Amino acid sequence: MNKPDLKNKVVVVSGGTGVLGSYWCKALAECGAKVAILGTNLDKAQKLVKEIEEIGGVALTVQTNVLDRQSLIEAKKFINETFGTCDILINGAGGNHPQGTTTKEYFELDDIKKDELLTFFNLPLEGFEHVFDLNLIGTLLATQVFAQDMLGKKDATIINISSMNAFKPLTKIPAYSAAKAAISNFTQWLAVHFAKVGIRVNAIAPGFFLTSQNENLLIDKEGNLTDRAHKIINHTPMGRFGKPEELVGTLLYLVDAEASGFVTGIVIPVDGGFSAYSGV
Ligand code: NAD
Repeated sequence: MNKPDLKNKVVVVSGGTGVLGSYWCKALAECGAKVAILGTNLDKAQKLVKEIEEIGGVALTVQTNVLDRQSLIEAKKFINETFGTCDILINGAGGNHPQGTTTKEYFELDDIKKDELLTFFNLPLEGFEHVFDLNLIGTLLATQVFAQDMLGKKDATIINISSMNAFKPLTKIPAYSAAKAAISNFTQWLAVHFAKVGIRVNAIAPGFFLTSQNENLLIDKEGNLTDRAHKIINHTPMGRFGKPEELVGTLLYLVDAEASGFVTGIVIPVDGGFSAYSGV
């Protein structure tokens, strides 16, 4: 695949300092884009800016909370003054939370008496809210703020990050599953809503990539793969986790108006066959 020419395009990436996001930022910079990284961890973000500059790219970072509209407005102001208006928004901030996760896959009658378990019945609302806010509301607010820059622009586009959980929920993580299903649904809604103003909206649904957001479910205290991790690999026809760089081609395809100019409202799985496999 030819790399898209993103020269002079301003790309805003939330969650840009994350394990997956940092690959996206570097790849976009390599295509000539000016990359604005919205991060919560300034040290990490500054290190990433340096790495991008070392490969000849252009990047900046603004400490931004995607759940705080004012923080996003201030970030936009700084990015507009430094780089210009936003052409491409990648809504990458997201993740799960232990308080939105049940201890067991299946509920059994006696579990109701076991206070040490997080069951469906005692899942704290805060856990659910945290996960819904981070994934759905963080995408909504960042889009409300940055899509204003895209009105009337040529080749403006938004990429959301969904998940395998959006197609079929995984056990134990009801909040994350529902939030990512909402992301896929919201992607379709927004694609339709913005179709007449030329903003394309699509999503990527990554399969399983070992990162900080899922390591507590996939790696045990000794550093070995958990039973759940083995189960995932066994359900992935390609028999392994994805490598972060394997998401880059799909991202570049979706931001490239020449390649995907008539594509809007889709959710592309990048999953080694996970979503196609029935398990038999
Ligand atoms: P990660 O934890 O490495 O990255 C998440 C990023 O979100 C971090 O940079 C973090 O600083 C940022 N973030 C968290 N709260 C924020 C806030 N309030 N404001 C701004 N930024 C905030 O995880 P990752 O695996 O790189 O995840 C990237 C995206 O991919 C997420 O949306 C995740 O849900 C999704 N995803 C990951 C996988 C996987 O297997 N790793 C699979 C499917 C989807």
